[in-house]
Order: sequence, then structure tokens, then C-alpha cells
Amino acid sequence: MALLKVARLGHPVLRQIAAPVPPGEIKSETVQKLIDDMIDTMREYEGVGLAAPQVHESRQIAVIEVTNNKRYPAAPPIPLMVIINPIVTFHSPDLIKEWEGCLSIPELRGRVPRSEKVVVRALDRSGRETTIDTGGFLAIVLQHEIDHLNGRVFLDRMTDLSTLTHLKEFERYWQREEREE
Ligand code: ZN
Repeated sequence: MALLKVARLGHPVLRQIAAPVPPGEIKSETVQKLIDDMIDTMREYEGVGLAAPQVHESRQIAVIEVTNNKRYPAAPPIPLMVIINPIVTFHSPDLIKEWEGCLSIPELRGRVPRSEKVVVRALDRSGRETTIDTGGFLAIVLQHEIDHLNGRVFLDRMTDLSTLTHLKEFERYWQREEREE
């Protein structure tokens, strides 16, 4: 197991458009090891997703998983998913606004409008084509991670910065309010 260093906001790698992985390289030891290390790093830091640019690798790879996550206690479980060269082929016009955080922007949360449903075409870690047609939390995570592959972070998507909140204040003022709703 290898933990990778997470790039933080301000590092130029987070603003680059990541290069697609040539399908013939997906099964290579280098790419498979990067995927394994990304999974370990996501689990170690309790992310629900991690994109390769966040570990200083400007390549179109992201991993997603939710199991009893302390950072997102309300999140439904999502089995481990590896997406390579993803393309969003459908964005629903209906938007939802949920709280997002990011391992590259530590200790902050903000409410971000996103499409409620998306369809994503990608390759999996064995190079097979897969189509993910989903909504709700997984749709949000997919949009967040695919944004990373295109040099964007959740702050760019916020339309109202007044909800930008430090984690302690989020827990104190906002999470409680959500529970009471
Ligand atoms: Zn992120």
C-alpha cells in the first residue's frame, strides 16, 4: 500500500486538463499501481472520490467509493468504482444543491448546484466500456471528480459563496440545521 501526496488548491496540476489514458496502457503495471494507490489514498483520507490530478498525475482517472464515511455520514454506500477517460453524455436540467468538500480544499464545505442526474461513459480498470446512468449522491460525486479531470474544482461551480463554510462551523451551524429540517 502506498499513500500519495494530495495536491492542494493553488497547485497548477489541479487546473490542467488531464490527458486521456490510451486504452492499451490501462492494464500496464504503472496505471494499475496508480489506481491501487489512489484507492488507498482515498480510503486513508476518507474521501468519497479522488481524481488523479489530486495526486499530481494529470491523467483521466478517478476512483469513487462510500462505506460508512465519517466525513459524509449521510452519504449512501457506493461500491468501489474506477472510471477512466469519462465523458458525461447527459446532464439533467434539474439541479440539486448539496454540500461538497474536497481533499484538495481541506476544511471547507459549500453548497454546489449540480445536475440531479447524469449519464457517464467511461472505461473501467480492465479497459471495458461502461455506462453509468445515475442520480443523487453518486451523480454529484461523478460531476465533482470529472470536473477535476477538466481542471475545475467545486468552488468554480458555486453560485452563492455565502454558504462557503469551515468544517467546524459547518458541523456547528449547518449540519445541525439539516438534521432538524
Ligand atoms: Zn475534489
